[in-house]
Amino acid sequence: MTAPNHHQLVFPNDYRYDDARRAWNLAADLRPAVVALPTSTADVVNAVRYAGERDLRIVVQGTGHGAIVHAPLDGAMLVNMREMRGVEIDAANKRARLEAGALWEDVVVPATGQGLTALHGSSPNVGVVGYSLGGGIGWLARMHGLSAESVLAVELVTADGAVIRADRTQNTDLFWALRGGGGGLGVVVALEIALFEVDDLVAGMMIWPWERSAEVLTRYAEWAETAPNSVSASGRMLQIPPLPEIPESIRGRQLVVIDGAVLGTEAEAQEILAPLRALGPEIDTFGAAPLDSLIRLHMDPEPPMPTKGDGVMVDALDSEAIEALVEIAGPGTESPLIIVELRQLGGALRERKPGAGVLGSLDGSFAFFAAGVPLGPEVAEEIELRIDALKEALAPWTREKPYLNFAEKRVAIGDAVGAESFARLETVKAAVDPHGRFRSGHAFTPTPPLEVARAA
Ligand SMILES: Cc1cc2nc3c(=O)[nH]c(=O)nc-3n(C[C@H](O)[C@H](O)[C@H](O)COP(=O)(O)OP(=O)(O)OC[C@H]3O[C@@H](n4cnc5c(N)ncnc54)[C@H](O)[C@@H]3O)c2cc1C
Repeated sequence: MTAPNHHQLVFPNDYRYDDARRAWNLAADLRPAVVALPTSTADVVNAVRYAGERDLRIVVQGTGHGAIVHAPLDGAMLVNMREMRGVEIDAANKRARLEAGALWEDVVVPATGQGLTALHGSSPNVGVVGYSLGGGIGWLARMHGLSAESVLAVELVTADGAVIRADRTQNTDLFWALRGGGGGLGVVVALEIALFEVDDLVAGMMIWPWERSAEVLTRYAEWAETAPNSVSASGRMLQIPPLPEIPESIRGRQLVVIDGAVLGTEAEAQEILAPLRALGPEIDTFGAAPLDSLIRLHMDPEPPMPTKGDGVMVDALDSEAIEALVEIAGPGTESPLIIVELRQLGGALRERKPGAGVLGSLDGSFAFFAAGVPLGPEVAEEIELRIDALKEALAPWTREKPYLNFAEKRVAIGDAVGAESFARLETVKAAVDPHGRFRSGHAFTPTPPLEVARAA
């Protein structure tokens, strides 16, 4: 029997339990039998062995931004990686090594200090590992592709407690499976990722009153189809809460917003953005921007909060599709959704490169995502109904493939990566986790449920 470091195992009767089990998404009320809070790879190995000896299933958490698909976790072990956030930047070789609890901000701030950046997303405090395991689309995505494709090596603790490295030369099948399949293969303890140089950057947002949502989003949807790969953008209807930390010009307002980044000069950006500017935004902040400003461009909420959302990938949208969205969640609809987003895809995201991982590319035109704040069961139900109505309205334009990072209802991983890749993924899963010890956020190979045992 392994001698666990009991300081790092937190049981329900421990005063630290509520803090240790908490996810960023406070709507995910996780009730694991035990939480491990490792501070080293050795602690992770001990935790995995401890779970193995007691037949506990294991769920790993970086930040809990995607935790809703794991709830309620009864009887399982939660391995919360939040204490392991070390980051080393190797500027000469344009790569970073990070421990698995690292947030995007932990990487981007030191990297930009050395003139480099990473394929981060819109939020500074989403975890690099969870984001990259699911794919990862951010402001450089249409030029440089999915974050998963920037992963150079993965260090993993497997179900038998072994510490292994997967990269292009060793454990290559596992390396393939870890890039975009959503995880569920072991505990990732560290990643090595590529960093990118950006010579010129223009970024910002254009804002209109949301009464103009149909007109602005229709123009955006047309523009997005032919825009060059140097721009990655997002179009959103937003209902901004009246919080004091939000700038007064937009606090408490209902808006339609287009934000994005152009990897180019101001003159190039001017030309690319002209069709959007022609709509006469009320506020236009696009201009030359420092690299680290991208991490907060989208104004994503940072402190933990309850959210309820869901998304689908969609093809090119015409005015009929946009009008359907606006009629369900725009002006005059009393919609409880604070965000209805169309994240621009295409460009490098569509190209599957040789040697790519299990996901490799995304072939829709937009990642649609909508969310609200479920303050109470009635609001939660209203949010769910409204999102279902939006998804139904988009059905004629919907891709059959979900995007795992924006799917907040459990979906089949096979639907996201395609049948052929899923068959190979199942083989890797069976080899590395034969007893289904690890539970992925989305539905993996149907594994027989393990006998749930008492943890203590
Ligand atoms: C405000 C907000 C902004 C977002 N912006 C973007 C965006 O711009 N682009 C985008 O693509 N997505 C975005 N997302 C979605 C986000 O990428 C997913 O929710 C992602 O799964 C979060 O990863 P995490 O590690 O922070 O969260 P977690 O919920 O902790 O982890 C997500 C999944 O990864 C697994 N996992 C995490 N760490 C490990 C590990 N060390 N070993 C094994 N498995 C692990 C977990 O088990 C879980 O299934 C956003 C989400 C939110 C809430």
